[in-house]
Amino acid sequence: MDYDVIVIGAGPAGASAAAEAARAGLRTALIERQRLPRHKTCGGGMPMVTGEILREFSPGAVVEAEVRYMRHTWRFSDPVFAAINPPGAERDISLWMVQRSLFDNAVTEHAVRSGAQLRDEMTVRQIEVLPGGVKVHAENSRTGASFQAAARHLIGADGANGISAKAAGLRQNRLLAIAMEVEHPHVWGTGHPELRRDTIHLEYGAVTRGYAWVFPKGDHLNVGAGVFRPRKTGGLGDPTVSRDLRSAIFGYLDMLQVPYAPEKMRFYAHPLPIWQGRERVSDPEGRILLAGDAAGLINPLFGDGILHAIKSGQIAARSIAEGCARDYTARIHAEFGDNFDAAFKLARFFYEWTGLVYRLGVKRETSTRTAARLLCGDALFTDVAGRAIRRLRRGMFGRANG
Ligand SMILES: Cc1cc2nc3c(=O)[nH]c(=O)nc-3n(C[C@H](O)[C@H](O)[C@H](O)COP(=O)(O)OP(=O)(O)OC[C@H]3O[C@@H](n4cnc5c(N)ncnc54)[C@H](O)[C@@H]3O)c2cc1C
Repeated sequence: MDYDVIVIGAGPAGASAAAEAARAGLRTALIERQRLPRHKTCGGGMPMVTGEILREFSPGAVVEAEVRYMRHTWRFSDPVFAAINPPGAERDISLWMVQRSLFDNAVTEHAVRSGAQLRDEMTVRQIEVLPGGVKVHAENSRTGASFQAAARHLIGADGANGISAKAAGLRQNRLLAIAMEVEHPHVWGTGHPELRRDTIHLEYGAVTRGYAWVFPKGDHLNVGAGVFRPRKTGGLGDPTVSRDLRSAIFGYLDMLQVPYAPEKMRFYAHPLPIWQGRERVSDPEGRILLAGDAAGLINPLFGDGILHAIKSGQIAARSIAEGCARDYTARIHAEFGDNFDAAFKLARFFYEWTGLVYRLGVKRETSTRTAARLLCGDALFTDVAGRAIRRLRRGMFGRANG
Protein backbone atom coordinates (compact mmCIF):
# COMPACT_ATOMS: atom_id res chain seq x y z
CA MET A 1 0.00 0.00 0.00
CA ASP A 2 1.24 3.50 -0.83
CA TYR A 3 -0.52 5.10 2.15
CA ASP A 4 -2.25 4.14 5.36
CA VAL A 5 -5.03 6.57 4.56
CA ILE A 6 -6.13 8.58 1.55
CA VAL A 7 -8.43 11.50 2.32
CA ILE A 8 -10.60 12.91 -0.47
CA GLY A 9 -11.57 16.58 -0.10
CA ALA A 10 -9.73 19.44 1.61
CA GLY A 11 -12.73 21.05 3.28
CA PRO A 12 -12.96 21.19 7.09
CA ALA A 13 -13.69 17.45 7.34
CA GLY A 14 -10.87 16.27 5.07
CA ALA A 15 -8.23 18.78 6.17
CA SER A 16 -8.88 18.00 9.86
CA ALA A 17 -8.89 14.27 9.16
CA ALA A 18 -5.58 14.51 7.30
CA ALA A 19 -4.00 16.60 10.07
CA GLU A 20 -5.13 14.17 12.76
CA ALA A 21 -4.04 11.10 10.77
CA ALA A 22 -0.60 12.53 9.98
CA ARG A 23 -0.10 13.60 13.59
CA ALA A 24 -0.86 10.02 14.63
CA GLY A 25 1.98 8.85 12.37
CA LEU A 26 -0.17 7.48 9.52
CA ARG A 27 1.13 7.87 5.97
CA THR A 28 -1.53 10.25 4.69
CA ALA A 29 -2.48 11.65 1.28
CA LEU A 30 -5.01 14.48 0.92
CA ILE A 31 -6.53 14.84 -2.55
CA GLU A 32 -8.54 17.93 -3.51
CA ARG A 33 -10.29 18.60 -6.80
CA GLN A 34 -9.76 22.33 -6.80
CA ARG A 35 -6.65 24.41 -6.65
CA LEU A 36 -6.24 25.82 -3.14
CA PRO A 37 -7.27 28.22 -1.79
CA ARG A 38 -10.70 27.69 -3.36
CA HIS A 39 -14.07 29.37 -2.95
CA LYS A 40 -16.70 27.43 -0.97
CA THR A 41 -20.35 28.40 -0.91
CA CYS A 42 -20.95 28.95 2.80
CA GLY A 43 -21.89 31.52 5.44
CA GLY A 44 -18.60 30.82 7.20
CA GLY A 45 -20.06 31.13 10.71
CA MET A 46 -18.88 28.78 13.43
CA PRO A 47 -18.72 28.65 17.23
CA MET A 48 -15.41 29.65 18.75
CA VAL A 49 -15.01 26.16 20.24
CA THR A 50 -13.68 25.21 16.81
CA GLY A 51 -10.38 26.66 18.01
CA GLU A 52 -10.31 24.29 20.99
CA ILE A 53 -11.01 21.31 18.74
CA LEU A 54 -8.46 22.19 16.04
CA ARG A 55 -5.39 21.86 18.21
CA GLU A 56 -2.27 23.78 17.19
CA PHE A 57 -4.38 25.88 14.86
CA SER A 58 -4.21 29.63 15.29
CA PRO A 59 -7.50 31.18 14.20
CA GLY A 60 -6.41 34.80 14.58
CA ALA A 61 -5.30 35.13 10.98
CA VAL A 62 -8.58 33.93 9.45
CA VAL A 63 -11.32 35.09 11.84
CA GLU A 64 -12.72 38.28 10.29
CA ALA A 65 -15.39 39.10 12.86
CA GLU A 66 -16.28 37.88 16.33
CA VAL A 67 -20.02 37.92 16.86
CA ARG A 68 -21.59 38.57 20.28
CA TYR A 69 -25.12 39.70 19.35
CA MET A 70 -28.00 38.46 17.21
CA ARG A 71 -30.72 40.57 15.61
CA HIS A 72 -33.79 38.49 14.82
CA THR A 73 -36.77 39.51 12.66
CA TRP A 74 -40.01 37.99 11.47
CA ARG A 75 -40.88 39.01 7.91
CA PHE A 76 -38.34 41.82 8.25
CA SER A 77 -40.17 43.42 11.16
CA ASP A 78 -40.80 42.84 14.89
CA PRO A 79 -37.01 42.97 15.59
CA VAL A 80 -35.29 41.56 18.65
CA PHE A 81 -31.70 42.47 19.45
CA ALA A 82 -30.12 40.16 22.02
CA ALA A 83 -26.71 39.47 23.52
CA ILE A 84 -25.14 36.02 23.34
CA ASN A 85 -23.58 36.76 26.73
CA PRO A 86 -26.18 38.58 28.84
CA PRO A 87 -25.08 39.83 32.27
CA GLY A 88 -24.39 36.90 34.57
CA ALA A 89 -23.75 34.39 31.75
CA GLU A 90 -21.44 31.67 33.04
CA ARG A 91 -19.14 31.09 30.08
CA ASP A 92 -18.24 33.69 27.46
CA ILE A 93 -19.30 32.51 23.99
CA SER A 94 -18.72 34.07 20.60
CA LEU A 95 -19.23 33.06 17.01
CA TRP A 96 -16.44 33.32 14.48
CA MET A 97 -16.96 34.59 10.97
CA VAL A 98 -14.45 33.37 8.40
CA GLN A 99 -14.05 33.25 4.66
CA ARG A 100 -14.05 29.60 3.82
CA SER A 101 -11.34 29.93 1.18
CA LEU A 102 -8.91 31.17 3.85
CA PHE A 103 -10.12 28.98 6.70
CA ASP A 104 -10.03 25.71 4.72
CA ASN A 105 -6.65 26.60 3.30
CA ALA A 106 -5.28 27.29 6.79
CA VAL A 107 -6.49 23.92 8.10
CA THR A 108 -5.03 22.23 5.01
CA GLU A 109 -1.68 23.90 5.59
CA HIS A 110 -1.84 22.64 9.15
CA ALA A 111 -2.37 19.11 7.76
CA VAL A 112 0.62 19.49 5.46
CA ARG A 113 2.78 20.76 8.32
CA SER A 114 1.67 17.71 10.29
CA GLY A 115 3.02 15.47 7.52
CA ALA A 116 0.11 14.87 5.09
CA GLN A 117 0.92 14.90 1.36
CA LEU A 118 -1.40 17.28 -0.46
CA ARG A 119 -2.45 16.82 -4.08
CA ASP A 120 -4.71 19.68 -5.06
CA GLU A 121 -6.20 20.17 -8.53
CA MET A 122 -6.70 16.40 -8.64
CA THR A 123 -10.21 15.02 -9.11
CA VAL A 124 -10.78 11.50 -7.87
CA ARG A 125 -12.63 9.80 -10.71
CA GLN A 126 -12.74 6.23 -9.49
CA ILE A 127 -12.45 4.33 -6.21
CA GLU A 128 -11.76 0.60 -6.35
CA VAL A 129 -12.44 -1.45 -3.25
CA LEU A 130 -9.67 -4.07 -2.82
CA PRO A 131 -9.62 -6.99 -0.35
CA GLY A 132 -7.32 -5.14 2.09
CA GLY A 133 -7.97 -1.51 1.17
CA VAL A 134 -8.83 0.87 -1.63
CA LYS A 135 -7.26 2.24 -4.79
CA VAL A 136 -8.03 5.70 -6.13
CA HIS A 137 -7.60 7.09 -9.61
CA ALA A 138 -7.39 10.86 -9.84
CA GLU A 139 -6.76 13.25 -12.67
CA ASN A 140 -5.99 16.92 -13.18
CA SER A 141 -8.63 18.06 -15.62
CA ARG A 142 -6.53 21.04 -16.77
CA THR A 143 -3.23 19.31 -17.49
CA GLY A 144 -4.39 15.71 -17.87
CA ALA A 145 -1.83 14.55 -15.25
CA SER A 146 -2.97 11.51 -13.32
CA PHE A 147 -2.39 10.09 -9.87
CA GLN A 148 -3.08 6.57 -8.64
CA ALA A 149 -2.49 5.25 -5.18
CA ALA A 150 -3.61 2.48 -2.87
CA ALA A 151 -4.23 2.73 0.87
CA ARG A 152 -5.56 0.62 3.70
CA HIS A 153 -8.34 3.17 4.34
CA LEU A 154 -10.10 5.99 2.58
CA ILE A 155 -11.76 8.92 4.31
CA GLY A 156 -14.46 10.29 2.03
CA ALA A 157 -14.67 13.97 2.96
CA ASP A 158 -15.75 15.02 -0.51
CA GLY A 159 -18.83 16.97 0.50
CA ALA A 160 -22.41 16.92 -0.71
CA ASN A 161 -21.58 16.01 -4.31
CA GLY A 162 -18.68 13.63 -3.74
CA ILE A 163 -18.16 10.11 -5.07
CA SER A 164 -17.03 8.26 -1.93
CA ALA A 165 -20.51 7.49 -0.60
CA LYS A 166 -21.51 5.95 -3.93
CA ALA A 167 -18.29 3.91 -4.13
CA ALA A 168 -19.02 2.47 -0.69
CA GLY A 169 -22.71 1.88 -1.48
CA LEU A 170 -23.68 4.18 1.40
CA ARG A 171 -26.27 6.97 1.83
CA GLN A 172 -28.35 6.14 -1.22
CA ASN A 173 -31.36 8.22 -0.07
CA ARG A 174 -30.29 11.60 1.12
CA LEU A 175 -32.29 14.49 2.52
CA LEU A 176 -30.93 17.58 0.80
CA ALA A 177 -31.56 21.09 2.04
CA ILE A 178 -30.47 23.99 -0.12
CA ALA A 179 -28.93 27.37 0.62
CA MET A 180 -27.75 30.35 -1.36
CA GLU A 181 -25.44 33.25 -0.54
CA VAL A 182 -23.95 36.42 -1.97
CA GLU A 183 -20.84 38.19 -0.79
CA HIS A 184 -21.86 41.82 -0.89
CA PRO A 185 -19.03 44.40 -0.62
CA HIS A 186 -19.32 46.47 2.53
CA VAL A 187 -17.29 49.21 4.17
CA TRP A 188 -17.49 49.29 7.97
CA GLY A 189 -17.51 52.41 10.06
CA THR A 190 -19.94 54.54 8.08
CA GLY A 191 -22.43 54.72 10.93
CA HIS A 192 -25.08 52.30 9.63
CA PRO A 193 -27.46 51.94 12.60
CA GLU A 194 -27.93 48.16 12.36
CA LEU A 195 -24.88 46.73 10.64
CA ARG A 196 -22.20 45.95 13.20
CA ARG A 197 -19.20 43.68 13.03
CA ASP A 198 -20.25 41.94 16.23
CA THR A 199 -23.83 41.15 15.14
CA ILE A 200 -25.47 38.55 12.92
CA HIS A 201 -28.94 39.10 11.48
CA LEU A 202 -31.44 36.25 11.26
CA GLU A 203 -34.80 36.49 9.47
CA TYR A 204 -37.37 33.73 9.79
CA GLY A 205 -40.49 34.61 7.79
CA ALA A 206 -38.98 35.48 4.42
CA VAL A 207 -38.26 31.87 3.43
CA THR A 208 -40.78 29.08 3.85
CA ARG A 209 -39.28 26.22 5.90
CA GLY A 210 -35.99 28.04 6.28
CA TYR A 211 -34.36 31.30 7.27
CA ALA A 212 -32.18 34.07 5.88
CA TRP A 213 -29.09 35.67 7.36
CA VAL A 214 -26.57 38.50 7.17
CA PHE A 215 -23.10 37.65 8.50
CA PRO A 216 -20.34 40.29 8.94
CA LYS A 217 -17.01 39.67 7.21
CA GLY A 218 -13.85 41.74 6.76
CA ASP A 219 -14.79 43.56 3.56
CA HIS A 220 -18.26 42.25 2.79
CA LEU A 221 -21.57 41.03 4.13
CA ASN A 222 -22.44 37.39 3.57
CA VAL A 223 -26.16 37.57 2.82
CA GLY A 224 -27.89 34.25 2.39
CA ALA A 225 -31.04 32.18 2.68
CA GLY A 226 -31.78 28.49 2.90
CA VAL A 227 -34.61 25.98 2.96
CA PHE A 228 -33.53 23.72 5.80
CA ARG A 229 -36.54 21.46 6.00
CA PRO A 230 -37.05 20.58 2.37
CA ARG A 231 -40.06 18.77 0.98
CA LYS A 232 -39.33 15.64 -1.01
CA THR A 233 -39.53 17.61 -4.24
CA GLY A 234 -37.83 20.93 -4.81
CA GLY A 235 -34.14 21.56 -4.55
CA LEU A 236 -31.30 23.08 -6.49
CA GLY A 237 -33.03 22.62 -9.82
CA ASP A 238 -36.41 23.96 -8.65
CA PRO A 239 -36.83 27.50 -10.07
CA THR A 240 -39.38 28.42 -7.37
CA VAL A 241 -36.94 27.64 -4.56
CA SER A 242 -34.15 29.54 -6.27
CA ARG A 243 -36.46 32.55 -6.85
CA ASP A 244 -37.63 32.53 -3.21
CA LEU A 245 -34.07 32.44 -1.89
CA ARG A 246 -33.00 35.31 -4.14
CA SER A 247 -36.00 37.34 -3.13
CA ALA A 248 -35.21 36.81 0.58
CA ILE A 249 -31.66 38.05 -0.07
CA PHE A 250 -32.95 41.15 -1.88
CA GLY A 251 -35.49 41.65 0.92
CA TYR A 252 -32.68 41.72 3.49
CA LEU A 253 -30.66 44.28 1.54
CA ASP A 254 -33.80 46.40 1.10
CA MET A 255 -34.65 46.25 4.78
CA LEU A 256 -31.13 47.25 5.75
CA GLN A 257 -31.14 49.94 3.04
CA VAL A 258 -27.93 48.58 1.54
CA PRO A 259 -27.66 49.64 -2.12
CA TYR A 260 -27.20 46.83 -4.66
CA ALA A 261 -27.30 46.17 -8.39
CA PRO A 262 -29.01 42.78 -8.97
CA GLU A 263 -27.37 42.25 -12.35
CA LYS A 264 -23.91 42.57 -10.81
CA MET A 265 -24.53 40.19 -7.91
CA ARG A 266 -23.08 36.68 -7.97
CA PHE A 267 -25.29 34.07 -6.30
CA TYR A 268 -23.82 30.80 -5.07
CA ALA A 269 -26.12 27.91 -4.21
CA HIS A 270 -25.24 24.49 -2.83
CA PRO A 271 -27.06 21.48 -1.34
CA LEU A 272 -26.77 20.64 2.36
CA PRO A 273 -27.10 16.95 3.22
CA ILE A 274 -28.86 17.17 6.56
CA TRP A 275 -28.97 14.55 9.29
CA GLN A 276 -31.88 12.19 8.71
CA GLY A 277 -31.31 9.60 11.40
CA ARG A 278 -28.76 6.88 12.14
CA GLU A 279 -27.41 5.21 9.03
CA ARG A 280 -24.11 3.55 8.13
CA VAL A 281 -21.35 6.03 7.28
CA SER A 282 -18.63 3.41 6.73
CA ASP A 283 -18.52 -0.03 5.12
CA PRO A 284 -18.55 -2.98 7.54
CA GLU A 285 -14.81 -3.64 7.00
CA GLY A 286 -13.91 -0.01 7.81
CA ARG A 287 -12.17 0.62 4.50
CA ILE A 288 -14.23 3.66 3.49
CA LEU A 289 -15.23 6.15 6.20
CA LEU A 290 -17.41 9.15 5.32
CA ALA A 291 -16.98 12.45 7.17
CA GLY A 292 -18.67 15.87 7.17
CA ASP A 293 -21.26 16.59 4.49
CA ALA A 294 -20.44 13.29 2.75
CA ALA A 295 -21.77 11.61 5.91
CA GLY A 296 -24.85 13.87 6.12
CA LEU A 297 -23.69 15.63 9.30
CA ILE A 298 -25.55 18.93 8.92
CA ASN A 299 -27.53 19.99 11.97
CA PRO A 300 -31.20 19.73 10.88
CA LEU A 301 -32.30 22.82 12.81
CA PHE A 302 -29.54 25.39 12.21
CA GLY A 303 -28.10 23.97 8.99
CA ASP A 304 -24.53 24.34 10.23
CA GLY A 305 -21.93 21.74 9.29
CA ILE A 306 -18.39 23.06 9.77
CA LEU A 307 -17.89 22.01 13.39
CA HIS A 308 -19.45 18.58 12.77
CA ALA A 309 -17.28 18.12 9.67
CA ILE A 310 -14.15 18.82 11.72
CA LYS A 311 -15.23 16.54 14.57
CA SER A 312 -16.15 13.66 12.26
CA GLY A 313 -12.92 14.01 10.25
CA GLN A 314 -10.93 13.75 13.47
CA ILE A 315 -13.00 10.78 14.69
CA ALA A 316 -12.38 9.00 11.35
CA ALA A 317 -8.61 9.53 11.57
CA ARG A 318 -8.49 8.45 15.22
CA SER A 319 -10.57 5.34 14.54
CA ILE A 320 -8.06 4.30 11.87
CA ALA A 321 -5.03 5.17 14.02
CA GLU A 322 -6.45 3.15 16.91
CA GLY A 323 -7.20 0.14 14.68
CA CYS A 324 -10.95 0.59 15.25
CA ALA A 325 -12.06 1.65 11.76
CA ARG A 326 -14.86 -0.94 11.87
CA ASP A 327 -16.36 0.94 14.82
CA TYR A 328 -16.48 4.28 13.02
CA THR A 329 -20.22 4.31 12.30
CA ALA A 330 -20.94 3.48 15.95
CA ARG A 331 -18.61 6.28 17.08
CA ILE A 332 -20.36 8.79 14.83
CA HIS A 333 -23.75 7.72 16.14
CA ALA A 334 -22.47 8.04 19.71
CA GLU A 335 -21.16 11.56 19.02
CA PHE A 336 -24.08 12.96 17.02
CA GLY A 337 -27.03 10.54 17.09
CA ASP A 338 -29.11 11.56 20.12
CA ASN A 339 -28.41 15.25 19.74
CA PHE A 340 -29.21 15.44 16.02
CA ASP A 341 -32.28 13.24 16.43
CA ALA A 342 -33.59 15.73 18.99
CA ALA A 343 -32.65 18.67 16.71
CA PHE A 344 -34.55 16.94 13.90
CA LYS A 345 -37.71 16.78 16.05
CA LEU A 346 -37.38 20.43 16.99
CA ALA A 347 -36.75 21.37 13.34
CA ARG A 348 -40.01 19.66 12.31
CA PHE A 349 -41.85 21.90 14.74
CA PHE A 350 -39.82 25.03 14.06
CA TYR A 351 -40.17 25.00 10.28
CA GLU A 352 -43.86 24.05 10.35
CA TRP A 353 -44.95 26.72 12.87
CA THR A 354 -42.25 29.33 12.35
CA GLY A 355 -44.37 32.42 13.07
CA LEU A 356 -45.58 30.99 16.33
CA VAL A 357 -42.11 29.79 17.29
CA TYR A 358 -40.81 33.29 16.59
CA ARG A 359 -43.30 34.88 18.99
CA LEU A 360 -43.11 32.26 21.72
CA GLY A 361 -39.57 30.99 21.32
CA VAL A 362 -37.06 33.16 19.43
CA LYS A 363 -38.23 36.36 21.16
CA ARG A 364 -37.76 34.93 24.64
CA GLU A 365 -35.01 36.65 26.61
CA THR A 366 -32.99 33.46 27.00
CA SER A 367 -33.28 32.13 23.44
CA THR A 368 -30.27 33.83 21.83
CA ARG A 369 -27.97 32.54 24.55
CA THR A 370 -29.48 29.06 24.28
CA ALA A 371 -29.03 29.02 20.49
CA ALA A 372 -25.37 29.98 20.84
CA ARG A 373 -24.86 27.31 23.52
CA LEU A 374 -26.45 24.71 21.24
CA LEU A 375 -24.16 25.75 18.38
CA CYS A 376 -21.13 25.33 20.66
CA GLY A 377 -22.24 22.03 22.11
CA ASP A 378 -22.43 23.73 25.54
CA ALA A 379 -26.11 22.76 25.65
CA LEU A 380 -27.61 19.68 24.02
CA PHE A 381 -30.76 19.42 21.93
CA THR A 382 -31.55 16.31 23.94
CA ASP A 383 -31.97 18.55 27.01
CA VAL A 384 -33.69 21.45 25.27
CA ALA A 385 -35.92 20.12 22.48
CA GLY A 386 -38.57 18.26 24.48
CA ARG A 387 -39.14 21.15 26.87
CA ALA A 388 -39.23 23.69 24.03
CA ILE A 389 -41.77 21.67 22.04
CA ARG A 390 -44.01 21.22 25.10
CA ARG A 391 -43.89 24.96 25.80
CA LEU A 392 -44.70 25.81 22.21
CA ARG A 393 -47.57 23.30 22.09
CA ARG A 394 -49.07 24.91 25.19
CA GLY A 395 -48.78 28.31 23.51
CA MET A 396 -50.48 27.13 20.33
CA PHE A 397 -53.99 27.11 21.77
CA GLY A 398 -56.00 29.89 20.21
CA ARG A 399 -53.14 31.17 18.08
CA ALA A 400 -52.66 30.89 14.32
CA ASN A 401 -49.31 30.63 12.57
CA GLY A 402 -48.01 33.83 11.02
C1 LIG B 1 -25.03 28.72 1.47
C2 LIG B 1 -24.46 27.87 2.59
C3 LIG B 1 -24.16 28.47 3.80
C4 LIG B 1 -23.62 27.72 4.85
N1 LIG B 1 -23.29 28.35 5.99
C5 LIG B 1 -22.72 27.67 7.01
C6 LIG B 1 -22.30 28.35 8.20
O1 LIG B 1 -22.39 29.57 8.32
N2 LIG B 1 -21.77 27.59 9.19
C7 LIG B 1 -21.62 26.24 9.08
O2 LIG B 1 -21.14 25.61 10.04
N3 LIG B 1 -21.99 25.58 7.96
C8 LIG B 1 -22.50 26.26 6.91
N4 LIG B 1 -22.82 25.61 5.75
C9 LIG B 1 -22.52 24.17 5.65
C10 LIG B 1 -21.02 23.96 5.40
O3 LIG B 1 -20.61 24.70 4.27
C11 LIG B 1 -20.69 22.48 5.19
O4 LIG B 1 -21.31 21.72 6.19
C12 LIG B 1 -19.18 22.23 5.22
O5 LIG B 1 -18.55 22.85 4.13
C13 LIG B 1 -18.88 20.74 5.20
O6 LIG B 1 -17.49 20.54 5.10
P1 LIG B 1 -16.91 19.24 4.37
O7 LIG B 1 -15.44 19.26 4.61
O8 LIG B 1 -17.68 18.05 4.75
O9 LIG B 1 -17.23 19.46 2.81
P2 LIG B 1 -16.80 20.63 1.83
O10 LIG B 1 -16.45 21.84 2.55
O11 LIG B 1 -17.85 20.68 0.79
O12 LIG B 1 -15.46 20.07 1.17
C14 LIG B 1 -15.47 18.99 0.27
C15 LIG B 1 -14.24 19.10 -0.62
O13 LIG B 1 -14.14 17.91 -1.42
C16 LIG B 1 -13.68 18.27 -2.71
N5 LIG B 1 -14.08 17.19 -3.64
C17 LIG B 1 -15.33 16.84 -3.98
N6 LIG B 1 -15.30 15.81 -4.86
C18 LIG B 1 -13.99 15.52 -5.05
C19 LIG B 1 -13.31 14.57 -5.87
N7 LIG B 1 -13.97 13.68 -6.65
N8 LIG B 1 -11.96 14.54 -5.85
C20 LIG B 1 -11.26 15.41 -5.07
N9 LIG B 1 -11.86 16.34 -4.27
C21 LIG B 1 -13.20 16.40 -4.27
C22 LIG B 1 -14.39 19.59 -2.96
O14 LIG B 1 -13.74 20.33 -3.98
C23 LIG B 1 -14.33 20.27 -1.59
O15 LIG B 1 -13.19 21.08 -1.46
C24 LIG B 1 -23.39 26.32 4.69
C25 LIG B 1 -23.69 25.72 3.47
C26 LIG B 1 -24.22 26.47 2.42
C27 LIG B 1 -24.54 25.79 1.12
